[in-house]
Amino acid sequence: MKVIDIINSENPTLSLEVFPPKVSAKYESIEKATEEIAALKPGFMSVTYGAGGGTSDFTVSIAENLEKKFDVPVLAHLSCISSTKEGVRTQLEHIKAAGLTNILALRGDIPEGMTNSEEWDYHYATELVREIKEFDKDICIGGACYPEVHPDSENQVEDIKHLKEKVDAGCEFLTTQMFFDNNIFYNFLYKVREAGITVPIVPGIMPLTNINQLKRTLALSGTVLPLRFRYLLDKFGSDEAAMKQAGIIYASEQIIDLYANGIKNVHVYSMNKPEVALKLMENFSEILKWQRP
Ligand code: FAD
Repeated sequence: MKVIDIINSENPTLSLEVFPPKVSAKYESIEKATEEIAALKPGFMSVTYGAGGGTSDFTVSIAENLEKKFDVPVLAHLSCISSTKEGVRTQLEHIKAAGLTNILALRGDIPEGMTNSEEWDYHYATELVREIKEFDKDICIGGACYPEVHPDSENQVEDIKHLKEKVDAGCEFLTTQMFFDNNIFYNFLYKVREAGITVPIVPGIMPLTNINQLKRTLALSGTVLPLRFRYLLDKFGSDEAAMKQAGIIYASEQIIDLYANGIKNVHVYSMNKPEVALKLMENFSEILKWQRP
């Protein structure tokens, strides 16, 4: 089933992201965690893709397992920045052979110490979107977007201009980078719509459940942490169990506010934590009484 059909269905949905193992020694434990998450019957799931090798081979096998075993539609991430055209074609063949029909088309981060080189086969996600369309026009393609502006962009106007190019190339929906203040997302929506982008925008919510994760996450994404969250961190950050609960409550508050303001689909970065995914699904059990179309 295509992810866009789920996003366009009438009822609210909550979808969950997982990541594949970096090394084969972790495959079984990570597969088990992703299966526990799939058993919660989210609207759909997404499986991330490690740029520059590492986890790339595992994205497709984890995604295929979840879709076949749990009948949950899966969005396989695919990035292009350090790949050749041949490499991307091979990945697309793998995805197709696995029966997967949904791809989140990404550029990926520029490897440290390098610049976006003219010699590379790909420079931006838009080129990957075009490539996927050429490969198989029936694949449902999503893309990433950044309510707090992508770190490589000079300003939001430029960023949204390029986002429009990506959508025009064939992105059917967009998923946002995490944010911790919903007003940032609502402001972004106004600007995106004003720029003529009409596809669904699915907000991405990250339950921050421990301090180490927090430092890593914020350093990578450039996301701003509101004072309200920092107070919560000051109070509960040193107590692991309390911090986990506080992070789930904070994410739940963000999600209920999004649903209440008419956003139908929310994507949660579940970080392969079934217990966190379970709490969230429980928190929205009445609201999410929906039927897959
Ligand atoms: P793009 O859409 O190409 O944008 C990157 C930058 O280039 C932006 O600043 C944009 O404005 C600019 N730009 C675009 N086109 C042009 C142009 N023609 N000229 C000049 N500038 C241009 N990374 C992974 O490695 N694996 C994953 O699985 C993964 N999953 C993600 C999921 C989500 C929902 C999000 C939000 C991010 C994810 N990332 C992942 C991170 C992502 O790869 C990085 O943020 C990366 O730096 C940008 O990827 P993009 O697809 O958004 O790039």
